[in-house]
Amino acid sequence: MSSRILVDLAKLMKVRDDEGLMKRERVISSAQGAEITVAGGKKVLNFCANNYLGLASHPEVLEAAAETLRTRGFGLSSVRFICGTQDIHRELERRTAEFLGTDDAILYSSCFDANGGVFQPFLDEECAIIADQLNHASIIDGVRLCKAQRHVYSHCHTGTGLRNFDGRELPGLEDILMLDSVRNARYRLVATDGVFSMNGDIAPLDAIVDMCDRHDALLMVDDSHGTGYIGRTGRGSLERHGVLGRADLVTTTFGKACGGASGGVTAGRKVLIEWLRQTSRPYIFSNTMAPPVVGGTLKVLDIIERSTELRDRVHENAAYFRNGIKKAGFSIIDGETAIVPILFGMYPNDAVLVQQFADDLLEEGIYAIGFFYPVVARGQSRIRVQLSAAHTREHLDMAIAAFEKVGKKHGITG
Ligand SMILES: *Cc1c(COP(=O)(O)O)cnc(C)c1O
Repeated sequence: MSSRILVDLAKLMKVRDDEGLMKRERVISSAQGAEITVAGGKKVLNFCANNYLGLASHPEVLEAAAETLRTRGFGLSSVRFICGTQDIHRELERRTAEFLGTDDAILYSSCFDANGGVFQPFLDEECAIIADQLNHASIIDGVRLCKAQRHVYSHCHTGTGLRNFDGRELPGLEDILMLDSVRNARYRLVATDGVFSMNGDIAPLDAIVDMCDRHDALLMVDDSHGTGYIGRTGRGSLERHGVLGRADLVTTTFGKACGGASGGVTAGRKVLIEWLRQTSRPYIFSNTMAPPVVGGTLKVLDIIERSTELRDRVHENAAYFRNGIKKAGFSIIDGETAIVPILFGMYPNDAVLVQQFADDLLEEGIYAIGFFYPVVARGQSRIRVQLSAAHTREHLDMAIAAFEKVGKKHGITG
């Protein structure tokens, strides 16, 4: 092996470290939940999981997964079209399609794979993709895998006119839809997250659906942070905006609100989904979800469909936390999801500060993570708190008190 790459990487790593940009993983030695144990045995409250409904360790989900392990085994040792399809995989596809208001759905081992395999089968160099500037990395990568022209619009800006968001001046969605090259494309496809994970805001999907209808564009929504708890019955951002069933393609993950294990899905019209089964590379060339995960996820859908109790509780918890943290003197991005970004970009050395702040919170028994460049733009560092139905009032009060205490230490709050 050439030693040059080792030397180069060591240098790059040192620069990252000096800038305070190294990600360090904390080790958990318990199951996922509101209360977890971190390495060394300390018990802390978890405020940074995507476990919005608290289903990651729900007894009914564990039992369903264990029962499926006994009846369908651990793994399938094959991709779907050879001998990797069980009855329960078809059942989960049917149930998910029904839940999302579409004809059919196709499973992947992750939503990253769903997004990696959703553009290239439909779009070539005669087509155009128009994407929100804050789309998830997996959408960006999926778009890179196809040859369509690419356009980016200013975050959630559906109209016309340049707009500066996060230091980038970009046109609105309608500006791009009116470009000659886009109007003359064979297909136009608008791609957006439903809920944006770093800001916790929801795409204005009612306006986007209208815009797509007017300009004869397809719409793809990745609702990974919305499925399960956004909208009156948890069907996600499209339900929230009264347009459930009106996106052409919906991708989402089972790795967040829906049990948090793993698995992704693309839902849509029958012919689109069938085409993906024939041509989508991460589907054809990679194993799908493991049977116990499928069994557990089917139970998750039962739980979500039988009552809105957990969904209601996470929203109550988010409202309570938002209110308390603002009263404590912190700046947040307001919103209606269970993601509450607490902003540190206005302070000097914000990347270093959020990490120090998160370390101090952990000392106080609160586990939350600081995000900094390149995960968010430079000068936009934040601690992202995520609420769960599994949090109690006491948990929320303890978190707010810890933020106040650490805030005082760093001279941020009174
Ligand atoms: C988390 C996330 C993904 C990736 O989901 P996995 O199933 O973990 O691969 C994709 N898109 C968005 C918007 C996400 O938030």
